Amino acid sequence: MSIELVKSLQSAGVKFLRVTFCDNANVIRAKAIHLGILEENLEYPVGITAAQQALPVMCDEVVNKSGLGPVGEIWLVPDWSTVKVLPYAPTHARVMGDMVEDQKPWSLCPRYFLKRAIAAGKQAGIEVMAAFENEFSLLHGVKNEIIPSDHTVFAATLGMDLNRKIIDAIADALVAQDITVERYYPESGPGQHEISIRYTSAMQAADRQIAFRETVRAVAIELGFKASFLPKIFANCAGNGCHLHLSLWQEGKNIIGDGAGKLSPTALAFIGGILHHLPGLMALTTPSTNSYRRIRPHCWSGAFKAWGYDNREGAVRVPSNPVAPTPTHFELKTSDASANPYLALGAVIFAGLDGVRNNLDPGQPVEIDPGNFSQVELADRGISPLPQNLGEAIEHLSRDRLLLDALGIELSRAYLAVRKAEWNAMKEMELDEEVNLLLERY
Ligand code: GLU
Ligand code: MG
Repeated sequence: MSIELVKSLQSAGVKFLRVTFCDNANVIRAKAIHLGILEENLEYPVGITAAQQALPVMCDEVVNKSGLGPVGEIWLVPDWSTVKVLPYAPTHARVMGDMVEDQKPWSLCPRYFLKRAIAAGKQAGIEVMAAFENEFSLLHGVKNEIIPSDHTVFAATLGMDLNRKIIDAIADALVAQDITVERYYPESGPGQHEISIRYTSAMQAADRQIAFRETVRAVAIELGFKASFLPKIFANCAGNGCHLHLSLWQEGKNIIGDGAGKLSPTALAFIGGILHHLPGLMALTTPSTNSYRRIRPHCWSGAFKAWGYDNREGAVRVPSNPVAPTPTHFELKTSDASANPYLALGAVIFAGLDGVRNNLDPGQPVEIDPGNFSQVELADRGISPLPQNLGEAIEHLSRDRLLLDALGIELSRAYLAVRKAEWNAMKEMELDEEVNLLLERY
């Protein structure tokens, strides 16, 4: 980072730089530094308390048994490759901050966790490329009432017409941040929309997930809407997924396919690792109490520990392409935007690499709708049940040695403490109460 960048931010009219991070509860936060003093604080612009990684989603109250308290200062060190003037708030810029303690990466930093996962991949000769595919709800910004922006069905052009201005504004704001927008359609649920963006390196994909959520929410506020990525807002309607699209690369070559229309042995083993660890992984990829209201049979939300070619009901779908090369990637559907993207993607990479290392078998591709089978019939096909609530997922993560070791002692202790506090606080809540609490957090 050079003085020139400070000058260019100044001449663009930027007054504040938001040094941004995402905590264990997946709340996006920032401390901003005024441009007037940035030049003299370039390396360490803002500090935060270590207890920041011990806050649950409900309130700013340090949870028990997190290993963290009021003592300890962490510095947010900007990753200058991520700096962007905010198109929806042009007097502010955003830069992602790495958490640093005593001039070294802090063991509880989510970006550092993902960096470790990427490095583990590199050691195994595998580079992971990724994209987060978000569904979100647009609501009218009426106080205390949840009124969806439309009641249209999947891909209805009426939904496009009713929401054109806000969707165009979101797309423009993403493009202004150098994010390639791919496809858009109204989704099934009330006010539900999906905008997909281009895949990229794992770290950039996670950073872009933060930018995406920030952008959708802020543009909505500007235009008098509310936006929410909460997995389940309306009881009997489609929920908001955030499918995680992944591809594996070796020396610049995509190694997903076997050249004959099926998956390569490496891709199969990687998926084997994800499915093997999925019950514990879910505490990181679908980590809110609300997440489990979305994961239901017949909702295409990844409710089954299974995978298939073009099968939208299993946890892992391998989409085919109309022409070769095919397949080129797969998606994890058991994932939503209440997940911290660095922790979720990092954990998925560690699980996949474990699959490759131990040649874990993902089982046969599922060619039926598993939602039509009883538990006994599913067991006959080798499809075991997934956690039914956050409490069960936490139990699985607490026993998953690979994921615990990957997270490390301090991060796993604080993360589990935060999720347990959330589970205890929210497990008895009815949907209404939960939505009131969480709608604006995610
Ligand atoms: N809304 C579904 C979910 O909860 C996904 C539908 C789709 O396949 O796009 O994940
Ligand atoms: Mg969708």
